[in-house]
Amino acid sequence: MAKQKPKGNSKSKPKTKNYVRNKNQRPSSWIFWVIGIIAIGIVFLLFVGNFGNKDDSNGGASIDYKNQPYLGKDSADVKVLEFGDYKCPVCKNFNETLFPEIDKDLIQTGKIKFYFINYPFINVDSRRSAQFAETVYSELGNDSFWKFHELLYKKQPADQEAEKQDIFTVDFLVKTLAEATSNKDAQKVKKAFNQSKHDEDVKKDEALVSKLGVQSTPTLFVNGKRFEGSTYGDLKKQVEEASKGKN
Ligand code: CA
Repeated sequence: MAKQKPKGNSKSKPKTKNYVRNKNQRPSSWIFWVIGIIAIGIVFLLFVGNFGNKDDSNGGASIDYKNQPYLGKDSADVKVLEFGDYKCPVCKNFNETLFPEIDKDLIQTGKIKFYFINYPFINVDSRRSAQFAETVYSELGNDSFWKFHELLYKKQPADQEAEKQDIFTVDFLVKTLAEATSNKDAQKVKKAFNQSKHDEDVKKDEALVSKLGVQSTPTLFVNGKRFEGSTYGDLKKQVEEASKGKN
């Protein structure tokens, strides 16, 4: 168990000199290789470590934002994601009270991109309206989607009983879309909806719900990290920290 004796100075000193004087590149290049590999290893660990921290709240899962409707400028470096259900009264409340502040302070100023993902679980018309909204997005584009999205939340009845009633029928959704856009657009979407052209998009959203372990609506994520606060101030703080790269 004795400690290994350090090698004598008499041996190591001349060796060090020899490496230089004899222009023997082998040992020195070997050392550079070792240092290089260690450096690459450290950089790799830092890189992996950073990603791990970013996604602590969702078990390291990454979010695919492709083909999801969003508001905001492309240059915004923070992505805020809302999981919502068109039949959810808290989502309606969020949309009408908190969202205008988010829009004014964070979206319009170019600080965030705000995404909406469907998590339809409350009633049969939750899924129908989610499928319809996906169809609006695919057939008419981002702007029409948000007009429809806003109007549909506005039309959600204030009566809590309505939550479990089938209110968002196809006719209701088509009429709402016609109000938000035009009759012609609404008929185009109705046709595509009846052909179930974009139903896969809701399944894609639901896969993300499972992946991130979302269990309620509205649930927000800021750059992949779940928002646990309750006020607009909490959200603003998390956005600012995300912007500085703290999460
Ligand atoms: Ca979607």
